Amino acid sequence: MSHYAITLAGDTDWPGFRQAARRLLAAGVSPGQVSWCVSGLEGGHQGEVPDLLAATAQHELPPEPPGAAPLNVSPAFLALCERVLMHAAPERFGLLYRLLWRLAHEPTLRHDLLDADRLQAQTLARAVRREVHKMRAFVRFRPVDDGRPDPLYVAWFEPEHHVVEANAPFFMRRYARMRWAILTPRRCVHWDGQALSLRPGASRGDAPPPDAGEALWLTYYQHIFNPARLNLPQMCKEMPRRYWRNLPEAGLIAPLAEHALLRTGHMLDAPATQPLRRIEARAEEPCTREAELSAASRPLPNDPHQALAALRAATNRCRECPIGEHATQSVMGEGPVGARLMVVGEQPGDQEDLQGRPFVGPAGHLFDRAVADLGWTRDAIFVTNAVKHFKYELRGQRRIHKTPTQREAAACLHWLESEIDQVRPQALVALGATAARSLLGHAVPVMQSRGTWLSGLRQLPVLVTVHPSALLRGDPSQREADYRRWLDDLSLAAKYLSGGGSAG
Ligand code: URA
Repeated sequence: MSHYAITLAGDTDWPGFRQAARRLLAAGVSPGQVSWCVSGLEGGHQGEVPDLLAATAQHELPPEPPGAAPLNVSPAFLALCERVLMHAAPERFGLLYRLLWRLAHEPTLRHDLLDADRLQAQTLARAVRREVHKMRAFVRFRPVDDGRPDPLYVAWFEPEHHVVEANAPFFMRRYARMRWAILTPRRCVHWDGQALSLRPGASRGDAPPPDAGEALWLTYYQHIFNPARLNLPQMCKEMPRRYWRNLPEAGLIAPLAEHALLRTGHMLDAPATQPLRRIEARAEEPCTREAELSAASRPLPNDPHQALAALRAATNRCRECPIGEHATQSVMGEGPVGARLMVVGEQPGDQEDLQGRPFVGPAGHLFDRAVADLGWTRDAIFVTNAVKHFKYELRGQRRIHKTPTQREAAACLHWLESEIDQVRPQALVALGATAARSLLGHAVPVMQSRGTWLSGLRQLPVLVTVHPSALLRGDPSQREADYRRWLDDLSLAAKYLSGGGSAG
């Protein structure tokens, strides 16, 4: 009886396996007569041909008998085979061929849901499906400067099964505009923004070391870790330990878990924290529209610092539009009197509303990063908003930002004008559409007008650009490129900070 040793071109050589199985079946070669292995190219592992047979095994496929009827199997079975083939178990080829052989020779097998071979194939397929998902969840990219304007993002991952190739299109779609590479021991996949390429395996040392972004991620992870909700067995189920060595946050789990009980005890013992609430309106302060208007028309002190303080107090009481009623407090601008550059946002957000300071929440952090990247200092800039109160809608406990209407922004305009009159900047930067409309007196399409100087309030030059919140909300794969473009826009205002400005 002949013995066949079939060598497939790769770990997941589905076309090769299909063709070989079809020919072997047609020639009546039983599963016991076949052994399978993978060519050594990808670090091939199998020596499945038992030594006794190795010498006599045939490496050519048997000729296809004329008129042999092909075996028909369901699409679901084919999909199962493709998935099983991605499993790392060397016996997967033999199992699949045995199943095919038995389907051809045992008509009842199709209906036997508890057949051991079928169950084993399903178990392997499940493990592969799980690995596909884990790879999607646990790949962590780090930027690498390879001399090109946009960074290359490189990740190191150690999959248990051969899922890299099958997962590549997923990463391509998700990070279509980024250049990235996922390195693994057996196979690497690269995306250059145009095409995917598969390359031989790499080693862990080929992947980049941690970067500054990672430190930020770890700080964030530590802060969101809730000791009272720690459930280690469940966590290990969702994030099996074998992935931990490549997950930066995994290093924090042991120390956080160690103190979880103690911290939970402290939390239970401590009195309830006072939620940050709206400050109470002071009874003696006028709140009616008439009172407010007459207060607003009183002359401001001559000293600009005192004038700004008076404006702050007045805006706090302002009810010229409905927003002020629901906000904690008004948020006036911050920065030096005489700042050459005034940057104007839309309205305070949740954090700004609670702290009473502009741009201190997530958009503010991005703005701070831009200021640092541009080599500016925030202390030299006057930062404010077109609208002085936080407009939001409540969803459960959360206050969700709502864009102010045109009327609300118009009602607030005189406060912004007063600020400009006190600070006397030489140029204005409008972050987003609301600020642009207030500063220019008419709406502009931000994406078309960005990066250009227009003439605005008090005849001052106004540079229009996007709002940092738009960058935070945007497509993550584009975020870095969008950020760079934003920096380019902002950099046009540098000449005012250095004192040499005249609108160009
Ligand atoms: N968005 C703004 O426009 N201003 C802030 O102060 C914060 C977020």
